[in-house]
Amino acid sequence: MRANVATAVAAKNMARRADRLLAGLEPVRRRDKVARIRLPEPAACGRTPLGTVALTKSYGDHRVLGGVDLAVDRGSRLVVLGPNGAGKTTLLRLLAGREAPDDGRVVHGHGLRIGYFAQEHDTLDGTDTVRGHLAAAAPHLTDGEVRRVLGAFLFTGDDAGKRVDVLSGGEKTRLALAGLVHSGANVLLLDEPTNHLDPASRAEVLTAVGTYPGAIVMVTHDEGALRALRPDRVLMLPDADEDLWSEEYLELVALA
Ligand code: ADP
Repeated sequence: MRANVATAVAAKNMARRADRLLAGLEPVRRRDKVARIRLPEPAACGRTPLGTVALTKSYGDHRVLGGVDLAVDRGSRLVVLGPNGAGKTTLLRLLAGREAPDDGRVVHGHGLRIGYFAQEHDTLDGTDTVRGHLAAAAPHLTDGEVRRVLGAFLFTGDDAGKRVDVLSGGEKTRLALAGLVHSGANVLLLDEPTNHLDPASRAEVLTAVGTYPGAIVMVTHDEGALRALRPDRVLMLPDADEDLWSEEYLELVALA
């Protein structure tokens, strides 16, 4: 964990809390995570495909991120935690290049290929079809493979021909995730990917998160998503205001 913090004491407290959070996660047995479809190997990349140096962002007078240093190593799992308004979505948007920092920078490592999942599904083209979206996101898939992947993500029969803009929120999430994990991206940026999902959709999304072999940076409040991710690091936001962190909040997140 390398969040910039206001004081050394605050940093130590956060690290201790992060340790406690990770300790509360049960190890996941490998056989619980058998994917129905083999995911492709992510595109080759360097040891640290994505990072940030002193990333800083304000909206007006409100400093949302104050000098975040981050290294996302190949295949690593990072969870970003924090209360509403802490800057989690802003961080992911900066990492995805959707927004520019005021100061500092996002560093792209060799071979980086980002897959970004936004809560508002603005990465999906409403005029596309379900089949068309997946075929474009994962052009190496044959027609038969596209059908199988769609089936694995619970799209059956006529669903493949549906326009994206008629899909429910949960269906859009499933489609976006299907495209991302089969795209060959080597870093996925996932912003609350299990929000508003029915149980079956959630299970598919968690399986995808758990079996994806590339790096994942995920924002979530969902304990099941944390377990599926098995994060090796936790980034706590806000990074400069320890007081916003209550034990209750951490316990809620970790169910510790
Ligand atoms: P989180 O994802 O942790 O809930 P956000 O990154 O969405 O937090 O937002 C962090 C803060 O920045 C909030 O106070 C929010 O109101 C503000 N904010 C986010 N985007 C904008 C924007 N485009 N213009 C002004 N303020 C914004």
